[in-house]
Amino acid sequence: MAPRGSRFHRGLDIACYAGSEVYSVSAGIVTKIGYPYDPRHPIKGKLRYVEVQDGDGMRSRYFYVSPLVEVGDVVRRRELIGVTQGLINIYPGITDHFHFEVKSERGQFLNPHDYLDKKGVGY
Ligand SMILES: [Zn+2]
Repeated sequence: MAPRGSRFHRGLDIACYAGSEVYSVSAGIVTKIGYPYDPRHPIKGKLRYVEVQDGDGMRSRYFYVSPLVEVGDVVRRRELIGVTQGLINIYPGITDHFHFEVKSERGQFLNPHDYLDKKGVGY
């Protein structure tokens, strides 16, 4: 578990240009296409996230991603699941990035670095 105030704040921010391809870290099933913010918000409401549950019940969540998959889709490891949406229009001055976090079956946040190491994914 990440200590409070760490640079990964329950997740990991990866700088990238808007429109960058996002690949699933794990094989699994798409369990959610969600909204990080109130979907009625005219600007922030356009942001989406994709959740993929692996065979162990771990749920990886990819934030600020325009999905190319649907709930129920089976994805392979390293399958394209979406493209990053970009945040500059929403938060002027921010560095475009996507946010990656991992939750256990019980909904506890896990250290995303440990998960990526376990899955053999560099970042
Ligand atoms: Zn973040």
